[in-house]
Amino acid sequence: MDFLPLFHNLNGKRVIVIGGGEIALRKVRLVAEASALITIVAKEYCADLVEIRDSNAKKGIHNLELITAPYQQQYIENYPEAVLVIAATNDPELNREVSKHAQQAHMLSNVVDDPGFSTVIFPSIVDRSPIQIAISSGGDAPVLVRLIRTQLESLFPAGMSKLAALAGSFREKVKAKFSNGADRKAFWEEVFGGPIAEQAYSNNLDEAERLLKDKLDTTEEFKTGEVYLIGGGPGDPDLLTFKAIRLMQQADIVLYDRLVSKPVLNLVRRDATRIYVGKTAGDHPVTQENINQKMVDYALEGNRVVRLKGGDPFIFGRGGEELETLAEQGIPFQVVPGITAASGCASYAGIPLTHRDHAQSVRFIAGHHRSGKLDLNWNELAQPNQTLVFYMGLNGLETICEQLKAHGLDANMPVALVEKGTSDKQRVFTGDLNSLPTIVRNAEAKAPTLIIVGTVVSLHDKLAWFNQNSQSEE
Ligand code: SAH
Repeated sequence: MDFLPLFHNLNGKRVIVIGGGEIALRKVRLVAEASALITIVAKEYCADLVEIRDSNAKKGIHNLELITAPYQQQYIENYPEAVLVIAATNDPELNREVSKHAQQAHMLSNVVDDPGFSTVIFPSIVDRSPIQIAISSGGDAPVLVRLIRTQLESLFPAGMSKLAALAGSFREKVKAKFSNGADRKAFWEEVFGGPIAEQAYSNNLDEAERLLKDKLDTTEEFKTGEVYLIGGGPGDPDLLTFKAIRLMQQADIVLYDRLVSKPVLNLVRRDATRIYVGKTAGDHPVTQENINQKMVDYALEGNRVVRLKGGDPFIFGRGGEELETLAEQGIPFQVVPGITAASGCASYAGIPLTHRDHAQSVRFIAGHHRSGKLDLNWNELAQPNQTLVFYMGLNGLETICEQLKAHGLDANMPVALVEKGTSDKQRVFTGDLNSLPTIVRNAEAKAPTLIIVGTVVSLHDKLAWFNQNSQSEE
């Protein structure tokens, strides 16, 4: 290891920057963020540097000094109090000379893009001040470092800054209450892994502060439970949101449905208790009331309950009904949207749901039989320039096609059926209102399947991109 990561307090310290172009500008912005006093020496300056100096000066902040001159060693010697010199000219020889002078003056030196001549290098930064993550490859693989940074950016909620600041404001009080380090650690672990953190991430700072105060004031251990109603998407775990993953990782109890895919379920916290509450068509082993009651009971016991559903909980997911029960019982909850089957299947089948040349609207329809009959407004559905998406329509496929023809849609209207969309078993069958039912019957398609009706389906041939090696009976 050639470089040891340290965090340098530059507040009020002098930093000398040699060079006045775009590269210098980037470094100046960074050190200015850290409240340094900056002296820049350059023959000329980009407009932004002048602008930063002038707008700061207007606010009474005189942190930037621009010296217009060719570089000479005296500019370093004139500021013996400087702690860091950054060489950012476009002349590599000059930059190295600057670095040599800085080191002679016992100052830290950074040569932009030349780690071999630097005593310090700038890391890539994920900034959730006061939380900061610095990443570096010692100059070996800056592009890789940037990729890592992008991944880390997506892992940490933007609200982490606020949570850390809130924690900072309670630090002394917590110290005063728990003299024992282990107790303090346990306290903070609960704060950062539970509802208080979630409230801060949801921008409910007052509530987060109130909960934190409560937690500090109560003597006996009292945990409030919470319910997270999470959309698990159509199958591919890559389609989960960051928030879904974060909350799934905090679960004590997970109540999940049949449509939640195995790879998605595998992402819940390892120690969480998993309870299957799925229904199989026609046979309801766990009634809806029973599920609602289970959620309430577990939450009242102080558990973090994840209610994990396929697709989006608010689209044919009974999410609304489940939340009403929680609201009536005063149990805190959050809802995390998921990719609904229509979006997932359409994307992975290369069928855009709307398209300027084909469809200006899209309808999501529940296509399951109720007591052997499909009670829908067929006149409204059999209209041109729209896309119809039928959920739960496998058994009703024939009726759907017949009714749409009977109410005026052309028998040649393209139709697709997507089986197990977004999973590695996805199959896509296409045909028209006449042919599709037979194609699907012969292929023995199994639920879950989604039916898409509309001329957008004709784009599938051109736009299909996913799982092209799979056996499809088109
Ligand atoms: N809340 C879910 C829908 C629940 S209704 C969502 O937003 O997606 C169940 C129906 O969703 C199934 O009958 C099927 O029509 C559809 N569905 C769910 N996942 C699917 C998948 N991976 N492939 C095809 N259809 C799916």
